[in-house]
Amino acid sequence: MRAYSSYKDIIKLVNKVDSVGLVPTMGSLHDGHLSLIRRALSENKKVIVSIYVNPLQFDNNDELKKYPRDIKNDLQKLETMSDILAYVPNDNEIYQKDEKKKKYNFGQFTKIMEGKMRPGHFDGVATVVEKLLKMFNPSNAYFGEKDFQQLILIKALVKEQKLKVNIIGCKTIREDDGLAMSSRNKLLNSTDRESASNIIRLLKKAKQLYKSSTLEETKINILKDALMIDNLNLEYFEILDTSKLSGFLEQEEEIRAFIACKVGNIRLIDNITI
Ligand code: AMP
Repeated sequence: MRAYSSYKDIIKLVNKVDSVGLVPTMGSLHDGHLSLIRRALSENKKVIVSIYVNPLQFDNNDELKKYPRDIKNDLQKLETMSDILAYVPNDNEIYQKDEKKKKYNFGQFTKIMEGKMRPGHFDGVATVVEKLLKMFNPSNAYFGEKDFQQLILIKALVKEQKLKVNIIGCKTIREDDGLAMSSRNKLLNSTDRESASNIIRLLKKAKQLYKSSTLEETKINILKDALMIDNLNLEYFEILDTSKLSGFLEQEEEIRAFIACKVGNIRLIDNITI
């Protein structure tokens, strides 16, 4: 494994390779990221792992500042893997001076849940992912279902830009108690970490309730339950048919429950299929 700060150096190495995978990350790598990377390695000859905390996708400067960064450790985790090219750009490599995020219009699904709670977030994500996809022109790019709305966004982006890349959604990897792995988990203190383990409990409870109750009853029950959890403030809880998230993508019908909450000061999201 070698790390590169210039995309041109990577292109020279992969331009004759017939299958290249891309795994975009913001670093502080954990087993969730590594599962995407392993899947990419099993399906491509070379895999580019980008590690870049994209300032344009943070709606809040404080969140950007406190986002965990651990590049030395990240590169160590990739060290033993062959066929990996780590792309570790600085801001000037990605953006022109004072460059603003692009404005996209992917319709209603970018205005609910994460789109509603974090205005401009998806424009920031799409801006950087469009750049990465156009830079490297990969055969396949890998994204986690943990960020399900983001996964749909990227599929919509690829369709709109007519890019020739397969977008591959990968299952959410969890800690032993079910908490979805996230770089932000390491910012939780021990009591908040305990509260955070309720996120998957709420999602699973919703799955149970939804079998025998209405959508409204299920939501009310979950909202009441969430109120009882120390230091956990629910931002939203939704149950949606994901095939309706974007009208212009052909998605199979699938009902998912989505949650976003703050545990202490740390914002966490998760979803499961129900
Ligand atoms: P991030 O570094 O948080 O931007 O995540 C980079 C990629 O890893 C995104 O496609 C995420 O959806 C994915 N990812 C993050 N956490 C997990 C997880 N626990 N399981 C699977 N994929 C994940």
